[in-house]
Amino acid sequence: MLKIKTNSAEETEKLGRLIGESLIGGEIIAMTGDLGAGKTTMTKSLAKGLDIDEHITSPTFTIVNEYDGRLKLFHFDVYRIEDIEEMYDLGYEEYFYSGGVCIIEWANLIKEILPEDIINIEISTLDEGKREIVISGKGEKFDHLVKELS
Ligand code: ADP
Ligand code: MG
Repeated sequence: MLKIKTNSAEETEKLGRLIGESLIGGEIIAMTGDLGAGKTTMTKSLAKGLDIDEHITSPTFTIVNEYDGRLKLFHFDVYRIEDIEEMYDLGYEEYFYSGGVCIIEWANLIKEILPEDIINIEISTLDEGKREIVISGKGEKFDHLVKELS
């Protein structure tokens, strides 16, 4: 487990970029944190670390957006999901096991379908510009990421 404090959005972006650069494909990244914690901020910078130039917008109504970079990125925002069936209708497994990178904002709302091998990124607001970011998880990809970040 890694616990990191950032003092500005820029510091979180730096970390996000580093995470993006460290990914090897197939990661499922479960992001949690209150509204305004910095999930989308982190996702945007992580996309830069995957060499994605496209503008990232939160897929609040579409649930998932797809981007092409060094690896494919599938950006989920499940905030508005009311029933887990919506994830099945979407064919989420195709995304999860595609070899691309999946980032899921509000992953706590779909706990029952998250795989065992996972990278959790939990962002908590400490103060105006300060955040605590806890990275935990399980599996090969998680171990690799921790090694890269340490
Ligand atoms: P979420 O997707 O979790 O709802 P956003 O990333 O959309 O949150 O918004 C986070 C907001 O907080 C942005 O306006 C960002 O500039 C601001 N912010 C301030 N300090 C930080 C920090 N240390 N890390 C991330 N974002 C921060
Ligand atoms: Mg968001």
